[in-house]
Amino acid sequence: MAALSDSIQFLPGVGPKRAEALKSELQIETVEDLLYYFPFKHNDRSRFHDIASLHGEMPYIQVRGRFISFSESGKGFQKRLNALFSDETGTVEIVWFRGQKWILEKLKKNVDYVLFGKPTRYNDRINIAHPEIEEWARFEAALSSGLQPQYGLTEKLRQEYITSRTITKMIETGWAKYGGLISETLPSRLLEPLRLMPLKQAVFQIHFPESEDLLNKAKFRLKFEELFDIQLKLQFDKKIRERSVSGYFFPRENDRAVKELFKKLPFQLTTAQVRVLSEIRRDVTSGRQMNRLIQGDVGSGKTMVALFSMLMATDSGAQACIMVPTEILAQQHFRNISRLLEGTGVEAGLLTGSTKKKERTRLHAALQDGSMHILVGTHALIEDEVSFSNLGLVVVDEQHRFGVAQRSKLWMKSEKPPHVLVMTATPIPRTLAMTLYGDLDVSVIDELPPGRKPIKTEFYSDSQRLTLFANLKREIDAGRQAFVVFPLINESKTLSYKDLTDGYESYSRAFPSPRYAITVVHGQMKNEEKEASMSYFVQGQSHILVATTVIEVGVDVPNATVMIIESAERFGLSQLHQLRGRVGRGGEQSYCYLIGGNKLSSDAQRRLQAMVSTNDGFELSELDMKLRGYGDLEGTQQSGDPVNLRIASLVYDGKILQLANDAARNILSDDPELSKPENFILRKHLKTMKTQVVDWSRIS
Ligand code: ADP
Ligand code: MG
Repeated sequence: MAALSDSIQFLPGVGPKRAEALKSELQIETVEDLLYYFPFKHNDRSRFHDIASLHGEMPYIQVRGRFISFSESGKGFQKRLNALFSDETGTVEIVWFRGQKWILEKLKKNVDYVLFGKPTRYNDRINIAHPEIEEWARFEAALSSGLQPQYGLTEKLRQEYITSRTITKMIETGWAKYGGLISETLPSRLLEPLRLMPLKQAVFQIHFPESEDLLNKAKFRLKFEELFDIQLKLQFDKKIRERSVSGYFFPRENDRAVKELFKKLPFQLTTAQVRVLSEIRRDVTSGRQMNRLIQGDVGSGKTMVALFSMLMATDSGAQACIMVPTEILAQQHFRNISRLLEGTGVEAGLLTGSTKKKERTRLHAALQDGSMHILVGTHALIEDEVSFSNLGLVVVDEQHRFGVAQRSKLWMKSEKPPHVLVMTATPIPRTLAMTLYGDLDVSVIDELPPGRKPIKTEFYSDSQRLTLFANLKREIDAGRQAFVVFPLINESKTLSYKDLTDGYESYSRAFPSPRYAITVVHGQMKNEEKEASMSYFVQGQSHILVATTVIEVGVDVPNATVMIIESAERFGLSQLHQLRGRVGRGGEQSYCYLIGGNKLSSDAQRRLQAMVSTNDGFELSELDMKLRGYGDLEGTQQSGDPVNLRIASLVYDGKILQLANDAARNILSDDPELSKPENFILRKHLKTMKTQVVDWSRIS
């Protein structure tokens, strides 16, 4: 009996060899996989170009005309077949590098053909290599809407003579025999109000569209389903976790150090900080385990929120830890936290890769006997020897820098799962956050502490250094400090080091000692040296800190008002924004100067232009996503995407995603276990859903 799980090998026109290629290249094994292999776009084949209008920068186009001559040239591997193809407006050359014999036998002069291919310029002439060819008469007969699907292919498939057209043919035969077996996957309570096209019809229309309108409805249905699947899965799993796991209880009545810190703070918390803290309090008194993401732009005061949360834990007799991505940042957090905790009786410790053996042993013991309450550290925290007596809260700062596996190791350090707070200053576009973090609750600190002036960002080309130095001098002479950051080039330490030392020299010439002091921090220094240089700068003893990106995350020097980013074109948008966030932390006007070459790629120009035009991290992250084309289905596989979507796009389908998110929430709030008969279809669907959410840590 025929089933959608049948192998494609037995479809007419497939066979073992092609089946193997489709499996290894596109993971298509079954008829179902094949029918779900959606085209990434549709070409309008009702449109023809005049041959005279062809040029080398065109996408795939279509021409109609006749072959007027064929000629073979070259020998052996160089052998090729050329033809001249004409319409009323002109003639274009067509080239084949293989399959010549077959083509010569098949193609006729004096017959109208339709050619579909990509014009390229070669030796100052336009030619089209290996076009798709069809007789006009057959083409016309088969043309229903003129919308021809184009499927993503790989080089290897092309070598097997699998074209987009071949895929269409396979799907055609697959559909004829199996199409009727496709059964609906969404309940009518979704289909009707959202006017979703039934699945069977949608799958048909995406491959063989009968009109633009039907194609759009099919796309909408399939995109919705894809995004809904993810939302339903994430939210369903979250509900299960909430039901099965009980959380630590940190009630307000236990507050002691929380209150002391509150009194001691030299400033008032912002409304946003207070709101987020009350969301956290609600979580830690709900009886459930907290899994919360805090998004807040650089400088919005996330660390303070983390500290208050940790004190909620320690006030109730539990321990807390905060994990940060770099040594420098860990040291800074530890310094600040220790200062704020003075006199409260709360003990904090620091554990990093460079913690000495003796101190390490002391820390391990103190964590186990419970005399150490808060641990600050890098990923050294996750090591197996580190164990707590009663770990109630885990904070992960700049979460995107850690992988899932690393983070979940931390959860394991307690018998009862600790509450989890992850913090990120890399604003993630809302659509991406909803997809990646659908199982987390999200808090946003959407307010900067008062009195901050927006940072002014300017671009200077290399040749405008004099102006740059004049600006820098003005700030330093007014008592401020500056960061100068060089990129890591090709991850080559020696090259970056050279860049940095050359740069250092040029700054030293413009800002000579003893009047000015410059310190350097780079990856090749020993930790003690780094630490010494940093603290020199932090304490205001040097004016300029020249560094590689070690200072990227979290470093806090309120007196620094200038951030100079050298070779800014080499940085990604979110990194640039992070770096800029190192200044503008005091009440003074701050500046970010982006230095770049005179010739920049258009992408680099757009990034730098975006930086100059906005300080809004969320706006930048949206733009970043667009520039990087996350979720754009162009071609086949996109490595580096955090989510593999087969038809929806996180860039363009935000509205559909919102609908999917709402729909999943409504259904689960009404029937959390999907046990009602009308939702049975969804329960089954959850098990077989096709979209996989990939690792979170791959964003940034
Ligand atoms: P983030 O981690 O979000 O980038 P931080 O927690 O490092 O930001 O805070 C940036 C700076 O702002 C720190 O110097 C911090 O002490 C200060 N700060 C935090 N909250 C407030 C507030 N409510 N009012 C004034 N300054 C604040
Ligand atoms: Mg921070």
